[in-house]
Amino acid sequence: MSKFVFKKKFGQNFLKNQNIIDKIVDSIEPNEDDLIIEIGPGSGALTKKLKKYDATLIAFEIDLETKQYLDKLEDEKTQIIYQDFLTADILEILDKYNFTNLYIIGNLPYYITTPIIEHIIKLNLNVSSMVFMVQKEVADRFLSKPKSKNYGYMTVILNYWFNIEKIIDVDKKNFVPMPKVDSTVLRLSRKETLCVDYDKFDALVKDSFKFKRKTLNNNLKSYNRRELEIILNKHGYTLENRAEEIDLETFIDLTNNI
Ligand code: SAM
Repeated sequence: MSKFVFKKKFGQNFLKNQNIIDKIVDSIEPNEDDLIIEIGPGSGALTKKLKKYDATLIAFEIDLETKQYLDKLEDEKTQIIYQDFLTADILEILDKYNFTNLYIIGNLPYYITTPIIEHIIKLNLNVSSMVFMVQKEVADRFLSKPKSKNYGYMTVILNYWFNIEKIIDVDKKNFVPMPKVDSTVLRLSRKETLCVDYDKFDALVKDSFKFKRKTLNNNLKSYNRRELEIILNKHGYTLENRAEEIDLETFIDLTNNI
């Protein structure tokens, strides 16, 4: 086996703590007729353990050099696809499989955590739950509540689609090579969707957070502000509030009634 050279440009920090690996793998509960997508298997630390479920497993890995570890994990239920998860034709690939529930799991490369999650949302995959290791700061952002400085567009969008739970904080010492930051494992479980028009909701949230320090009155100039004001008042807000103060229910109510 050739000596593996870790590639910073691919966010390669491999998890070496078996207890944490087990904890991540045990955070989903797939059956044999389910499908698991793993993003970034690397040397296969999670992949090996995920095989115990006997579910169909497809893993997307950008770095062909990991083939030396991953080849031996492939069989009729486990396939490694050497493509960039962000550009692979996921829908076409999924079309080839019959499955009941879909799970997505991965120790995500930190440089593209948010693009990966946004991509999954855009694809509108009917995913039951996703378990991701992300940078601790990013996890704090996803878990934050209104009126905290971390609360932003992604917080609202993710909480719209998913119930988000922290599984475990992971110290940077558990990786090789050691990254600069600590991590957190999150489980995102799919919720019932609540808006009549998701694109309208997405646009409203994006516009509301356009300039984070500005009030809704400033950020939502192109909307009918009289209508907005009436609904905001119902929830105890006014147009003088900033988006970071507005809870998810109010964004949903605004979308459904303007
Ligand atoms: N799963 C392994 C582990 O837990 O030790 C590796 C995790 S490492 C943080 C991230 C992995 O994602 C690396 O193997 C890297 O090559 C891969 N990766 C980076 N960008 C990717 C992309 N766009 N699509 C698929 N895999 C990617």
